[in-house]
Amino acid sequence: MEEAILLLGGNLGNRELALAQAMEKIEAHVGEITAHSSIYESEPWGFEDKNQFLNQAIKVNTELNPQQLLSTLLDIEQSLGRIRTGKLSARIIDLDILFYGNQKITTETLTIPHPRISERLFTLLPLAELLRNDILPVLNISAQELIKACSDKSKIHIWNFKNKL
Ligand code: ADP
Ligand code: MG
Repeated sequence: MEEAILLLGGNLGNRELALAQAMEKIEAHVGEITAHSSIYESEPWGFEDKNQFLNQAIKVNTELNPQQLLSTLLDIEQSLGRIRTGKLSARIIDLDILFYGNQKITTETLTIPHPRISERLFTLLPLAELLRNDILPVLNISAQELIKACSDKSKIHIWNFKNKL
């Protein structure tokens, strides 16, 4: 059993519903979700789009290995109607693996920790809420310290407050 930290996001259709459906499918196919952040709304990062994103970070306990976890998440994205149009584009749902236990993984299809954690406030803010002052696996620094050092100036705010699972 490993603890994985995932970032859920999307900017098309009913964004809140897509997050809720993704959580349901993660519980069913990945493992127990033990914690989640608030939902944050942010402007698209790295591309122009009129639709703002909703993002949420979660902790999940899983028996899946990293490759199985990735393919399960890609299947869930597809089942929720995601159409892949290449990098950095509007999407119904994006499920990224931020951390997998304390492991560092670099393969053709998978990089863990996720390579752009420290550059993007839409990842760092929910992560900091989820992990507070904890030292992040592999990176050996807290999310709060990464926020202080981050040059991302995107507008981002809490969309709604944490509901009990
Ligand atoms: P992005 O999330 O970067 O906008 P996609 O969701 O389209 O792009 O993902 C493209 C590919 O990124 C996935 O098919 C997967 O192979 C790869 N990938 C590499 N590392 C990770 C990770 N940590 N989490 C999720 N996908 C990853
Ligand atoms: Mg992705």
